[in-house]
Amino acid sequence: MNIAIIGTGYVGLPTGVGLAELGNKVICIDREISKIEALKNNKLTIYEDGLEELFLKNTKNGNLQFSTSMKEGVENADVVIIAVGTPPHPVTKEADMKYIHAAATELADYLKDYTVVATKSTVPVGTGDDIESLISKKNPNAKFDVVSLPEFLREGFAVYDFFNPDRIVVGTNSDQAKKVIEKLYEPFKQKSKLLFVSRRSSETIKYASNAFLAIKIHYINEMANFCEKAGADILEVAKGMGLDERIGNRFLNPGPGYGGSCFPKDTQAMAFMGKQNDVDLSLINAAINGNEKRKETIAHRILNLVGDVKNSKIAILGLAFKDGTDDCRESPAIDIIFKLLEQHACIQAYDPKAMELAKSILQDKIKYCSNVYEACKDADLLVVLTEWSEFKDIDLEKLASIMKDKKIFDCRNLLDKQKALSLGYKYEGIGR
Ligand code: NAD
Repeated sequence: MNIAIIGTGYVGLPTGVGLAELGNKVICIDREISKIEALKNNKLTIYEDGLEELFLKNTKNGNLQFSTSMKEGVENADVVIIAVGTPPHPVTKEADMKYIHAAATELADYLKDYTVVATKSTVPVGTGDDIESLISKKNPNAKFDVVSLPEFLREGFAVYDFFNPDRIVVGTNSDQAKKVIEKLYEPFKQKSKLLFVSRRSSETIKYASNAFLAIKIHYINEMANFCEKAGADILEVAKGMGLDERIGNRFLNPGPGYGGSCFPKDTQAMAFMGKQNDVDLSLINAAINGNEKRKETIAHRILNLVGDVKNSKIAILGLAFKDGTDDCRESPAIDIIFKLLEQHACIQAYDPKAMELAKSILQDKIKYCSNVYEACKDADLLVVLTEWSEFKDIDLEKLASIMKDKKIFDCRNLLDKQKALSLGYKYEGIGR
């Protein structure tokens, strides 16, 4: 099939690469010229495990192309996938639809034969109706259906998730569109579950899922707070809870709060939709407020641990919002660093993948180090903020001779607590 993808970011690019790998002819479109130029020159613009190999293979065999031209991609497409950003509105925090509306208006002129316009971006309930009317207004002769096709990939596992989806939710009432989407996902039929629902239900499923996961993280963080006071260990508690199949063991890792480009903005957008519809979404609001407070609490604990902040060095390990990605959007690590900088903390940091993106946010406010040991040199406190597995293998004996003070605040419960204690470190984890 011929596929055009509008928006070549963390969702659009892995989706384009995956669909090309399945044998489709894919054109990924973006309005950012430098991004398209880089991709045309075989340079990936994001980090995702396993993406590069498939990207290079499919650009070489011609299945995957890149363009800044809407016309080039859309006019021959059977399916146009919209994967542009839906950031929070700076004031109301509702999902800002300006990129969606622009993409729908721009693509309308180039629709020729019957085309399915599928929205992969996370969009408020009713957006499918808006896209439909924008296109019809601009191009009254266009033959098309707008389908909701929410994306559930996890950053860091985008390629794996593309080929091994838990479910593919499709929101449409059109039989013609349904056939096109069934053909698009033909290779997945055996292993995945195509779920056809109404467009509004599909749009809601995405928000309801993300809000639920955010609440689960908030919940385990609150339980970690409780464990600290009550003398229990959250690792044991989470294990015991997770063995119950109704609860499941995922998203039960306490930490510095949820972040990334999805949970913070999607919970805010869902809360806004609740208000709009006069529905009390108290759990979601509690998670939003609790998550903000969490980052403040962690920053305070760091400041308490260092004591004389102005004359101390803090080593931060991890800047990305989670492991496996270079994405620093709404990263708790970055928010916490900003809070520490307000108190004039001196920070030296390392992240295996996110250094460049972190630099674009934090600029010259911190020292960037090329490995764990450089970050910890002469440090008064080591703080682990992202759960990169390479941090599990830190040589604590070597660190002991490098750090000024042997103090660890392990916000991901990643390091070997017993070993740290036996080496004379003051060790603090989360919920233990
Ligand atoms: P992103 O910012 O990485 O990429 C969006 C891209 O769209 C940018 O490169 C931008 O230049 C481009 N763009 C914007 N307007 C355009 C236009 N009119 N024409 C062409 N290109 C245009 O965003 P993302 O992280 O890929 O997220 C995209 C959407 O998918 C969002 O709604 C997000 O909530 C949703 N989503 C994201 C994830 C994730 O893990 N990142 C997961 C599921 C869903």
